[in-house]
Amino acid sequence: MTKFSLLLIALLFSVQLSFSQEYTIVIHGGAGNIKPEMPEELQQRYLQTLDSALLVGVRVLENNGSALDAVEKVVNYLEDCPLYNAGRGAVFTYEGKNELDASIMDGSNLEAGALAGVTRVKNPISAARKVMEASAHVMLSGEGANTFSEQQQLEMVDNTYFKTKKRFESFEKAKAKYLKGKMGTVGCVVRDKNGNLAAGTSTGGMTLKRWGRIGDSPVIGAGTFADNKTCAVSCTGHGEFFIRLGIARDIASRMEYKNLSLKDAAKETLDKLSEYEGTGGFIAVDKEGNPVMQFNTSGMFRGYVKSNGEKEVAMFK
Ligand code: ASP
Repeated sequence: MTKFSLLLIALLFSVQLSFSQEYTIVIHGGAGNIKPEMPEELQQRYLQTLDSALLVGVRVLENNGSALDAVEKVVNYLEDCPLYNAGRGAVFTYEGKNELDASIMDGSNLEAGALAGVTRVKNPISAARKVMEASAHVMLSGEGANTFSEQQQLEMVDNTYFKTKKRFESFEKAKAKYLKGKMGTVGCVVRDKNGNLAAGTSTGGMTLKRWGRIGDSPVIGAGTFADNKTCAVSCTGHGEFFIRLGIARDIASRMEYKNLSLKDAAKETLDKLSEYEGTGGFIAVDKEGNPVMQFNTSGMFRGYVKSNGEKEVAMFK
């Protein structure tokens, strides 16, 4: 075989790789103290909803939707599901209200949208997408973000819509003991058939948050990041650590600057999080569609599906 034909084969192979029609969807529903002692029936409900969330994404991508469409729709599904700490079922602030944060990022052009501390928009991830597509800004907060969402004709609800009995009971218990925690943030990262990456994260934040506290979930580079060159990431855990360590961008930077694989980059980043005693985890997908789901807590609600049929949903270590 001549040098020229070898070169041609290598070229064809790399063209085929970059045009691969494969897709991957990875999701999380929060990391934390998730242990096998959880009632069997509840375990089944979590697994079923994770499975259905993946299916929502598959439908979008099979109908030629983009990575961004899939991220939005999957997160919408999880926001509407009261089991998770995002949208309906969000945790309570110290004052007994629900304040929601979300962000989304398009890896094909590094555009992003986020909002923090919204109290009336039913699906914060859709509002984050509007911030990206219909405003000149990246991040809006509080009442202004509510008004913007309303002007964008998104579905608005009364703050009591987010309240569920289960979360309110744990809020009262937590308040009595001043306990922090209660996780269940949701996130989704996608590599679509065209090789585009997108990431989104939506949360109620941390129980008993106060004084307008904002975590990592709406902060691009901390809780969410996507770049077609490297990977898409969505995080969950103790937000203060994720902000300080810029966790989502950290994974992408290790790939970009150190030429690491996603798996190796994710391992280094998780080690760094643990070194600083931060708790939580993240999901990620690289441009070839390889999924990663890592955490340093006892569990993380998670799952992935690939167009070749490979699939997993899990919650414990
Ligand atoms: N990272 C979220 C926050 O700190 C909480 C979570 O993921 O459970 O607001």
